[in-house]
Amino acid sequence: MVIVDGMNDEHLAEDYLPILQRIKRVGAYGIADNQQPQRGVDTLNCVGALLGLDVSDLPVGRAYLEAVAENIALKEDDCVYRASLLKTENGLLQTVNGLNLSTMQYRQAWQSLKEHLPSQYQLYPLREGRGILIDQKGRLQKTFPPHQHLAENMSTLLPKDIFLQKLIFSSSCCLEFLQENKGQWYLWLWDGAQKQKMPAFQTLHGFQGAIVAKTPVIVGLAKTMQMALAELKKATGETDTDLLEKKQQTIALAARYDLVICHVNGADEAAHRFDCIEKKQFLERVAEELLLPLVSSEKTVLIVGDHSTFCACGTHGQAKQPFYLANSMLKGNLGQVKGQEVIKLLQRGIRHG
Ligand SMILES: [Zn+2]
Ligand SMILES: [Zn+2]
Repeated sequence: MVIVDGMNDEHLAEDYLPILQRIKRVGAYGIADNQQPQRGVDTLNCVGALLGLDVSDLPVGRAYLEAVAENIALKEDDCVYRASLLKTENGLLQTVNGLNLSTMQYRQAWQSLKEHLPSQYQLYPLREGRGILIDQKGRLQKTFPPHQHLAENMSTLLPKDIFLQKLIFSSSCCLEFLQENKGQWYLWLWDGAQKQKMPAFQTLHGFQGAIVAKTPVIVGLAKTMQMALAELKKATGETDTDLLEKKQQTIALAARYDLVICHVNGADEAAHRFDCIEKKQFLERVAEELLLPLVSSEKTVLIVGDHSTFCACGTHGQAKQPFYLANSMLKGNLGQVKGQEVIKLLQRGIRHG
């Protein structure tokens, strides 16, 4: 199964990817509904559905799984947040991406934040403007993903906890050296979660699965669900990722495991940057370098997006995603299925073969 993150837009990727059109013609297709009740349309919830997880199995935010991906040890009551460098202008959220900082500036920013942090918090810088913050004493707070609230007033999006508010406001002083024109920088906390026991993939499905992914939340899902995980040396989780390595690892693991899930992230990132051309060019490369060889391998392959990501506004939308099933015993329009049913459907196609 190939999950192409944010594959579709206002237009479907099949409009310009001949391989998807061909699978629709000679193979099978349908719609996967990846929405989890009372949850947002994001990678955790939608990929979670495709892995067979229900809403009760999933942590409320991504931060827990990202911490697991980074092998950060957590205690039972710790609250984990994603920590992002955020730029505001006149108090309005401006950007979390495209900060255009140098490697040295990122390093200085994280160093300065770490030095001024009260002792109940631990900060783990991951890459560029992203990190993980652990609150060892507070209660889990409702937080807001910054990219879904661009141009909104920061003061309306703060966590209720007074200590976390203080932390966010005081972070601005640590980042003062980045100041230019009207911009002001903060450490933003979001996608908070606590430790959660999750079902093993083997228990859910009755067979073992492997994951080929670099995106931390997916790596975290693989680890907590006790799945095999490919060792990728050249993947970046971005549009410059090495798809050849992903293809090779997927094919190698398919010889040893009943199901391999390959996750490709770049298109979603390009759409968050409002870059339609970058997104389209990346998807064309995915089709050429990954989808085509996998489908040609004669293995049963299911291709699906987790959710749509719209280049025009840079946000997620549409949890209902077309899927394409190649080299399967199933043919034609399979209608709409819940995300949690997709693996069963894929297995049904193989077993009859
Ligand atoms: Zn996603
Ligand atoms: Zn996204």
